[in-house]
Amino acid sequence: MKKEENTTENDLMEKIVSLCKRRGFIFPGSEIYGGLAGTYDWGHFGVALKNNIKQYWWKKFVDSRRDMYGLDAAILMRQEVWQKAGHVENFADPMVECEKCHKRFRADQIENKEKCAECGGKLGKPMHFNMMFKTQVGVIEDSSATSYLRPETAQGMFINFKNTVDAFHPKLPFGMAQIGKAFRNEITPRDFIFRQREFEQMEIEYFVRETDWEKYFEYWRGEMLDWMEEVGIDMNKVHEIEVDKEDRAHYSSRTVDFEFDYPFGQKELFGLAYRTNFDLKNHGLEYVDEEANRASKDIARHDPVGSKMIPHVVEPTFGVDRAVLSILLSAYTEEDKGEEVRPYLKFKPNIAPVICAVSPLLKNKPELVEYANTKVFAPLKAEFGRVLWDDNGNIGKRYRRQDEIGTPFCIVVDFDTLADNTVTVRDRDTALQVRVKVSELANYIKEKIS
Ligand code: ATP
Repeated sequence: MKKEENTTENDLMEKIVSLCKRRGFIFPGSEIYGGLAGTYDWGHFGVALKNNIKQYWWKKFVDSRRDMYGLDAAILMRQEVWQKAGHVENFADPMVECEKCHKRFRADQIENKEKCAECGGKLGKPMHFNMMFKTQVGVIEDSSATSYLRPETAQGMFINFKNTVDAFHPKLPFGMAQIGKAFRNEITPRDFIFRQREFEQMEIEYFVRETDWEKYFEYWRGEMLDWMEEVGIDMNKVHEIEVDKEDRAHYSSRTVDFEFDYPFGQKELFGLAYRTNFDLKNHGLEYVDEEANRASKDIARHDPVGSKMIPHVVEPTFGVDRAVLSILLSAYTEEDKGEEVRPYLKFKPNIAPVICAVSPLLKNKPELVEYANTKVFAPLKAEFGRVLWDDNGNIGKRYRRQDEIGTPFCIVVDFDTLADNTVTVRDRDTALQVRVKVSELANYIKEKIS
């Protein structure tokens, strides 16, 4: 790629958006019909990246723990869920409309509160705009069939609290975890996948005794920071912000936002909220705390029924799409090569869509293709899964393509391979090449990515 003078933050965003489309990560939604604002479609490498991020999250926060219970609740829920949770009344953003061109803006996101940024017309008074997508369930269009696409995954966990307790008998503190789609009719979707109308969340509801909430709030703050670092988010660009009372969601008594330095400004990446017992209480759900009874000094008269209480909740929330964006921005690197630059995505191997690409030096030499296919590609594919066959264009082009996909290693089978059973392994970050014995290849890669 030709070197540009004075690359600005805006250019960086453009480069990321264009790379994502060109290399098959992320496409604009409904593009062939002119696009649908706030929606994106994920291509092969985008899905792989997103899946790796989600799997790593699940492994860390669910599979490797004893106190976590997974859930995959329906997106459509009865309207009572959102009435009781306070979302029908409160899940709204302040909106202003231009009296001349009727364009709508988020009142808290515009600098000039009087004048329309599009046509200079007068802006009307701010009003509340509920962001939930309303829909009808069933064939009779009466109000009882009204439902909403969920704007957060959290409520699915609250309404399944009793089911989870009855099925697994967890002792406090314990958590529920869910990954899934959420929908918000954002007034102004913008900044690529940062603010969409359909996106994904990874959420935990961690149930604790009221007296313990501060301890677990601190604990989850640390866990969230660790996870960010482990997936390759540039921690120099992460800031913790204590959210003021007036800016907190209606259910939260304390919120810490983790903000990231995006090219379009410092904005929210993830959030950590103390939801008190607001949701369980509103849904009329209780928990029998047997441990609390056992811990009481009156052990002899231990009541096996336990005491009824409503647990409090600490909620770490991760947006999948904002995780992807911050990881892309953290990974994007340009190596200065004089007149040219070499762009590459420095993904951590645990989340890279592809671990290694295998190429025969020339695709019209059957002996190279046969060797590369059977002795290198097939065994590596069986071992690592995320292995790509790439014989398109010359080797230079293949390296450039794999750099932009963020593939840590490119393996090339050439004529020397046929003689000595060694291959070239080229490292994405240093562009250095070494010869490795085919019999040692899997171990070599394993060692490098561990
Ligand atoms: P913002 O202030 O940016 O609108 P929020 O405070 O409303 O965000 P939360 O309700 O805390 O966001 O949602 C939890 C997480 O879901 C956010 O930290 C973010 O990662 C993600 N998220 C929220 N809204 C969107 C959106 N429109 N597009 C993509 N991700 C989103």
